[in-house]
Amino acid sequence: MIQRKFIVTAGPTREHIDPVRFISNPSTGKMGYAVAAAAAGRGFETVLVSGPVALAAPEGVRLVKVVSARDMLAAVERELEDGASAVLVATAAVADWRPAECAAQKLKKRDMKPCISLVRNPDILKTVREKAGGREKLMLVGFAAETNDVIAHARRKCEEKSLEFIVANDVTEPGSGFGCDTNRVTFVYPDGSTKLLPQMSKHEVASRIVDEILGL
Ligand code: C5P
Repeated sequence: MIQRKFIVTAGPTREHIDPVRFISNPSTGKMGYAVAAAAAGRGFETVLVSGPVALAAPEGVRLVKVVSARDMLAAVERELEDGASAVLVATAAVADWRPAECAAQKLKKRDMKPCISLVRNPDILKTVREKAGGREKLMLVGFAAETNDVIAHARRKCEEKSLEFIVANDVTEPGSGFGCDTNRVTFVYPDGSTKLLPQMSKHEVASRIVDEILGL
């Protein structure tokens, strides 16, 4: 366990329509940067694969900047290429869809259509699970940012993505979710059991997540 490398995905992804327009979400990366800081602070080799955010890399963390979901997947796969045992903590708010086409030049208003065709992005967690084999090689921890039926959705995702556990939070709750410095999360495990944590700073949540991984 102690030799494992931590790979953390963080922030939003941007799915470009043209060079100046994109589909994205309000993720600020705070939770993921805190997880990376917590892992590096415990002495683990830590790589942070981050979408565009306004945060500086935490001390001791190697930052890999990406833009789109496909870039993020490629960066994570590159980090796994060395075959070393790793933990992937996927805090990123990855865009599920991208425009079917990205124009090479800025689209003129008169040329833009009122509909954009979308195609599904790859699921990073599922893709690496399928390629990397069992949990002795790769442990996966996910996040479920939900607005309703939080635990039910988290349980389904934990199972579908074959995670060690998933960190669920209600992003509509005051003091939780996008942009806040605090979070109130529940760890949800593959057997359906849960552990509710009180509201605490994202740095404290990050530390609890690392503790949980080390205790698995
Ligand atoms: O399915 P959903 O997007 O709600 O799942 C959330 C979890 O899955 C997060 O840990 C997120 O980083 C990860 N995810 C991923 N690749 C995607 C979408 C989500 O790894 N394309």
